[in-house]
Amino acid sequence: MSIQRLSSLLVNQIAAGEVIERPASVVKELVENAIDAAASRIDVAIEAGGRELICISDNGRGIPFDELPLSIAPHATSKISQAEDLNAIATLGFRGEALASIASVSRLSILSRTKTQEGAGLIEIEGDDSGEPRPASGPVGTTVTMRNLFFNTPARRKFLRTEATETGRISDMVQNLALAHPEIGFTLKVDKRLTLEFPPRQTPRERALAILGGELEGELLELNMHERGIGMWGMAGRPGIARGTMKHQRVFLNGRLISDRSISHAIKEAYRGLIEPSRYPTIVLFLVMDPASIDVNVHPAKAEVRFRNQSSVHGAVLNAVRETLRRADLMPQFDMSRASSLVDALAVGTSPLPEFGAGDVSASPTGASAGRTPNPGAFVDYFKRLDPRQKGFVYAEVKQALANEAPEILEANDERTATGLKVDSSHPGIRQVESILQIHSSYLVTQDADGIVIIDQHALHERVMFEKLKARIEKGNLESQRLLMPATLEVDQAQAEAVMELKPMLERIGIEAEPIGPNAIAVHAFSSLLFERNVDPIEFMHDLLEKAVNDGLNHDSEAALHEVLDMMACKAAIKAGDRLSETELVELLNYRETIERSSNCPHGRPTSLRLSISDLEKQFGRR
Ligand code: ADP
Ligand code: MG
Repeated sequence: MSIQRLSSLLVNQIAAGEVIERPASVVKELVENAIDAAASRIDVAIEAGGRELICISDNGRGIPFDELPLSIAPHATSKISQAEDLNAIATLGFRGEALASIASVSRLSILSRTKTQEGAGLIEIEGDDSGEPRPASGPVGTTVTMRNLFFNTPARRKFLRTEATETGRISDMVQNLALAHPEIGFTLKVDKRLTLEFPPRQTPRERALAILGGELEGELLELNMHERGIGMWGMAGRPGIARGTMKHQRVFLNGRLISDRSISHAIKEAYRGLIEPSRYPTIVLFLVMDPASIDVNVHPAKAEVRFRNQSSVHGAVLNAVRETLRRADLMPQFDMSRASSLVDALAVGTSPLPEFGAGDVSASPTGASAGRTPNPGAFVDYFKRLDPRQKGFVYAEVKQALANEAPEILEANDERTATGLKVDSSHPGIRQVESILQIHSSYLVTQDADGIVIIDQHALHERVMFEKLKARIEKGNLESQRLLMPATLEVDQAQAEAVMELKPMLERIGIEAEPIGPNAIAVHAFSSLLFERNVDPIEFMHDLLEKAVNDGLNHDSEAALHEVLDMMACKAAIKAGDRLSETELVELLNYRETIERSSNCPHGRPTSLRLSISDLEKQFGRR
């Protein structure tokens, strides 16, 4: 075939391939046009997943009658006029491509009227046949109606998914656009049924809650910061509402939803240690920056941008999210709604229980509860049904009942089961902590201003160790202790090689090891800290090399060092079942107050749960 110029219809259809991938992309382009036209209401209606009909009405400034033919011409736009304009784009559109592209793959009509016009104008386009605009009646604003998407490009039509899937994508798209523009009212009608409705003039917070779900309100921390010329507002979810996919992480830049790896990385980094590595936080983040400091002209659908100063954006986002999390009390509230009511279980009357929370948690209330007749049998049943973690807080209360009714539940050695311990509340490290109780040698129970706090001793200690190690290693290599006799372990070839690669990192953590022959390594010196915590050098090295070979630990990255410190912390930490001495208990709780992120262990599991006084009051029927 000889070279020939393509027809303008074909050119536009090719361009449409980039911009108009599916019905949701049409919705995006048309709604963005309405936003650029300063509309305060945008109504979207679709039929058959958007394939049959997409109709978008706005009350924006409209298109002048004689500009209607131009609006659908390729590369025709009212938003930029010269090359310099590309350097600071403040509108969502600027390529002048969307309407032309949509027109080339559908049947399109535009009804529009400006404020100064008496009546509206209507233009209808099908393929490359666009008629002249003709007068019509209609309100100020623009209504764009698109029918039969991809009717003339069957190949594209085949790529469409089911109606439900395409409808879902449109609904997500409208929600994202609405999230970014809380000042604008939005509605979405799917096959004539109203499915979304957001009133105009909402605050960003109201709009975000309307979209994320009002029930999440308590789970979202408000973020509000200005740094390095970047304004940031958003709502960062508590670690507990992290999800398995990135879908609940939405980042907007100057009103545009973007996907940016470096920002995602900054967010992930800010949550590191608070959520498990395979999960993603729920977060919406709005960035506002000088348009001159970004290039939005790098992606056909403008879903990606280029920052003039990438690292400062990364730093600002990391700081803002981290700071928001740091300021918040991240301790999860105990979920009492799932436990049946204590009052029901007790089958007691309504007489109030003794004052709780004023004094010592471990004090048995039974003495003060004269006058009511608890049903110990029910109590014991209830106790048996409880999750082991829940046993902590009822323990003191039921101790008496259990002792009478089911002594086998109480461990034979009472001392081992519950160690009541007074801690001086004037101690600077512990705020409002008056007493600690160690339960089942695994959980620590104490109180703070809001209620009862139950701590997983292993998880907390692990976090404490991790933070200590991290702070310590910044000052230099960890102390090392020479072994009287080198410990040797068998390894495979990959592991032997890993030892060589990891040498610099091992030195940092106080370990000296080298291959002796192809299938063995010798450990000459071991980290003093691990030694003191009775960690077996052979076992530790074995696990470390396993990890290095399987997960490909990078020998020089900080992330890898953190992973190793994490592993050290886990191995060195006290385990569930370890009894703690008084000093250890006090030390542990002191550290809890001083370290960052004490609410979660380095893997992201919570270290503590709180049962609030108000929940207790509810459960005991005092309110
Ligand atoms: P772009 O948005 O990149 O300028 P489009 O093809 O989306 O290109 O739109 C072409 C032009 O049509 C716009 O520049 C604008 O002037 C006008 N236009 C499109 N939609 C609307 C609307 N809803 N209200 C007012 N003007 C519109
Ligand atoms: Mg546009």
